[in-house]
Amino acid sequence: MSNPHISIVIPVYNEEGNIEKLFERLVKTMDDYGKSYEIIFTNDGSRDRSLEILESFHQKRSDVIRVIDFNGNFGQHMAVLAGFELSKGEIIVTLDSDLQNPPEEIPKLIAEMEKGFDLVSGVRQKRRDNWFRRNASKIINLIRDRITRIRMTDHGCMLRAYSRQVIDLMVSSGESSMFIPALAYSYARNPTEIPVAHDERASGSSKYSLLSLIQLNFDLMTGYSLIPLQTFTLLGLIISFFSFLFVVYMFLRRIFIGPEAQGVFTLFAIMFFLVGVLLMSVGIMGEYIGRIYQEVRRRPRYSIKKVLE
Ligand code: UDP
Ligand code: MG
Repeated sequence: MSNPHISIVIPVYNEEGNIEKLFERLVKTMDDYGKSYEIIFTNDGSRDRSLEILESFHQKRSDVIRVIDFNGNFGQHMAVLAGFELSKGEIIVTLDSDLQNPPEEIPKLIAEMEKGFDLVSGVRQKRRDNWFRRNASKIINLIRDRITRIRMTDHGCMLRAYSRQVIDLMVSSGESSMFIPALAYSYARNPTEIPVAHDERASGSSKYSLLSLIQLNFDLMTGYSLIPLQTFTLLGLIISFFSFLFVVYMFLRRIFIGPEAQGVFTLFAIMFFLVGVLLMSVGIMGEYIGRIYQEVRRRPRYSIKKVLE
């Protein structure tokens, strides 16, 4: 069988209520579109009926459906990466399995790719997430824009298309924690963005807790920038400079006016503030060291139980 033109990669984690509808809409869209395609589902250790349902898709349409079954839960980005490794298409598309990314938008992405771009990112119009998620994303987008070299309007949107070249580079980079949109951007020579629709999650709830979201975003910041580290170096420099001026002042005061005894609590306040800054800088350093530790262990990033080709 010759290679399909388009590969669609979809991570699935406890999505039994969504994937049937997704399968129908996706297959219909792609059949109508007319180019050869494959759909790769990665079951990321679901504990519901997701795997069973995916296997039934494979039986129904073994010509286009491929299923990777993970040996546990390795996270959304690892699930997508495993899909990339298996994919054979010239254009690769990712989307979520909860129907927040309408599959009907895929032809738009592909049309844009065919103009010669190597990364087409969807920008979610009218995001259907709760107030907290939307605003948290806004802040993160802003910080990322400031401290990394990644220029994206919406790095959280997984509805994207990539060229084979970008995918090959991502597959060959051995990082154990990767944030796929950011990595793709750093490999792309000619990226662009288009607006895409966004729906509410059809069924179930978000698979990310607040803590795992914070973790993911820390990963993004420390994985693509050294500025958090350098900020503390700079802060240290500024504080040292002012403390030096202060010491000189105290010294002169001691000579010309006499010893100083008041202001003990002011001193406490300043000390506590500095201890806070110090702890924070140790924490940030820890983030980077943690990453180094993870990388040097060289553990397998995921493990596959079986693949349905
Ligand atoms: N997902 C996954 N493994 C995980 C968490 C999520 O494969 O550990 C998948 C999930 O099934 C969905 C996508 O990643 O297809 C995005 O997850 P979710 O919709 O929960 O994230 P949100 O839209 O809230 O950012
Ligand atoms: Mg979602």
